[in-house]
Amino acid sequence: MIEARGFPTEYGRGLLADLVDELGTYAVVAHPEPWAIIAPTLRRPPAVVISAGDLTPAHLDRLVAELPAVEAVVGVGGGTAMDSAKWVHGRTGASLFQLPSLPSVNACFTRMTALRDAGGVRYEGDAVPVRVLVDYDLIASAPAELVRGGIGDVLSCHTARFDWRIGADAGRDAPWDDEQAAMSLAYLDELESLSPQLAAGEDDGLRRLMECHRDIGWRCHELGHARFEEGSEHFFAYTFEEVTGRTIMHGELVTMGVLVMAALQGNDPSRPRRIADAARMRTALPDLGVTWDEVEATLHRLPTFVEEQGLWYSSANGLTVDDRVLDLARRALQVS
Ligand SMILES: [Zn+2]
Repeated sequence: MIEARGFPTEYGRGLLADLVDELGTYAVVAHPEPWAIIAPTLRRPPAVVISAGDLTPAHLDRLVAELPAVEAVVGVGGGTAMDSAKWVHGRTGASLFQLPSLPSVNACFTRMTALRDAGGVRYEGDAVPVRVLVDYDLIASAPAELVRGGIGDVLSCHTARFDWRIGADAGRDAPWDDEQAAMSLAYLDELESLSPQLAAGEDDGLRRLMECHRDIGWRCHELGHARFEEGSEHFFAYTFEEVTGRTIMHGELVTMGVLVMAALQGNDPSRPRRIADAARMRTALPDLGVTWDEVEATLHRLPTFVEEQGLWYSSANGLTVDDRVLDLARRALQVS
């Protein structure tokens, strides 16, 4: 069991309904589906509801410019809603509350906004919520496969830890830290233990997953980097977004990256496969709406993408994408 540190977090049901009775004027930044579920439960409506949309700085600043004065801002939904709410908090000083509709670390347990800028990802800001509200009913209303996809940003510890070692051995980026790197394995152990509970839709499986995310968010901030959790699997995901001009659910995309990169690393690829299957995640390309050609194009682009973007040194640097590599990736994704 992970003893999580990090942002104050409340678990339960009907949490925002109780909270808004105490809030002053407030704005909501929301995705439409979770908002449609939450809005009827609130006795006091928000002053304004902003649709969570793109994360370009120009768009976010336009949102803030059009916003009435509010005392609080509540992010309701997925990562884009949380990140937009952080931005509003950062620009206006309104108190921040986060109500995630999916389990994810970036959704609510990180301080920075992941801006999409100049074809890449740039992190900015320092937002600390007053409270994160994990509403079991809200999350249960999301498609089950997207909830299960929430393991992706913990599963990433498997390949990230391996990449950290490579980077440290090459004298690049953050120096190796035995204690922090051991936490990568502790998160994976916890994930392996909770995955069947998550697959079964149990509250406790969800709570344990969120506690991993909460501790990971805290650790990233304490360390000043995320090498124990972010490596070539994320770089694969960012490359996929550039190559295809679109994205899929972050955790599912990152998990695809973990499965592929673990195989290329020769790093016990059966373990992430076992965990993803225990969580009953979607990993088959047709189920994800992804073609093998897109994966292949992503792999071909990966080594130059990480150089151009100046990403941490990892197993993606200098990768030669030959038939052997493509065959390993194909097998990791069970493409026949
Ligand atoms: Zn991530």
